[in-house]
Amino acid sequence: MPQLSKRTETFTDSVIRRMTRVSNQYGAVNLSQGFPDFEPPKEILNRLAEVTNEDFHQYSITWGAQNFREALAEKQSKLMGRQINPDEEIVVTCGSTEAMMAAMMTVTNPGDRVIVFSPFYENYGADAILSGAEPIYVPLHPPEFNFDPDELENAFKQKPKALILCNPSNPCGKVFTYDELKQIAYLAEKYDVFVITDEVYEHIVYEPNKHIYFASLPNMWERTISCSSLSKTYSITGWRLGYIIAPPHIIDTAKKVHDFLTVGAAAPLQEAAVTGLRFGDDYYQWLRDKYTRKRNLFIKGLDDIGISHTVPQGAYYVLLDISEYGYSSDYEFCEDLAREVGVGAVPGSSFFREPVNNLIRLHFAKKDKTLIEALNRLENIRNKIPKR
Ligand code: GLN
Repeated sequence: MPQLSKRTETFTDSVIRRMTRVSNQYGAVNLSQGFPDFEPPKEILNRLAEVTNEDFHQYSITWGAQNFREALAEKQSKLMGRQINPDEEIVVTCGSTEAMMAAMMTVTNPGDRVIVFSPFYENYGADAILSGAEPIYVPLHPPEFNFDPDELENAFKQKPKALILCNPSNPCGKVFTYDELKQIAYLAEKYDVFVITDEVYEHIVYEPNKHIYFASLPNMWERTISCSSLSKTYSITGWRLGYIIAPPHIIDTAKKVHDFLTVGAAAPLQEAAVTGLRFGDDYYQWLRDKYTRKRNLFIKGLDDIGISHTVPQGAYYVLLDISEYGYSSDYEFCEDLAREVGVGAVPGSSFFREPVNNLIRLHFAKKDKTLIEALNRLENIRNKIPKR
């Protein structure tokens, strides 16, 4: 038999998504892969029901249905502080997973380097390998997850083509301040580098932190490829609706990449999601309040049990310290946690370049009832998982 491609040899399947399967296998409360177990907004679902009887069953325009792009342009123009052209500055993709992959393929050649902050969302490593690019990792130092400006500049000196910025950050919950973004912008301009953003948690930010769109910084629009999705904002992760926003000369190429990767996102779902894109500010405030309450409930529960953890400024993940159990493999710990305690988590090592094995990631995008059940199970963690 001929051999399979070399490029696929250097990465595994996604550990995040594998942990969902492990959780299901053991009937664990699945706090591994980050997705809600509560319903999307009723208005969107009602519109979806109508759409099934309307004429949206064939391909939409490859770079996104007109109606969807217009609604998205209107929403994002307000947030990003510039008039976004729905015809020339948007590509609608199958989730931000495709948006990020398409963005990488749009800007990099095989052999190019790409700066990635560590910890990172695990897809970026595979995105880089699939597009032939090589990551340069820059650590975000705990507990604040700040970067060292000299370490960052050293990475820029290695002639990268792009930097990937996940803000708010998965898994560490960091929300980059204006000053930090300005430092990145200064270096991006000085070394002439693209910035690819992953801003899927743009609406899940806790007071007093504020989300600032990187593309809105002075001179950054021209070199920023902003990726995001509707998954987290409208609790529709299974709909796979994402997008890229960038200047026309970048979007022209991204449209080609996207066209040949997937042709297009699901037409009926784009039409139904327009209802969400047209929600007023009160929806986003409601979402923030809802997640703030969930975050507070969950971290109070962890504090009561005496588990030390990060406190996110944005997104919906916490990293828990499992040092006291003495495991050399955090993956094994997560298997034991799912089987013995009944809670699904992601091993922290899937997010770090550095050799970290004392952290696991849990998410709290779940009904209060589910979170309370997970906390009740975690109360027994010290009995169920003996120290090694
Ligand atoms: N962003 C989610 C997480 O980190 C998962 C997204 C996905 O699996 N596509 O868990």
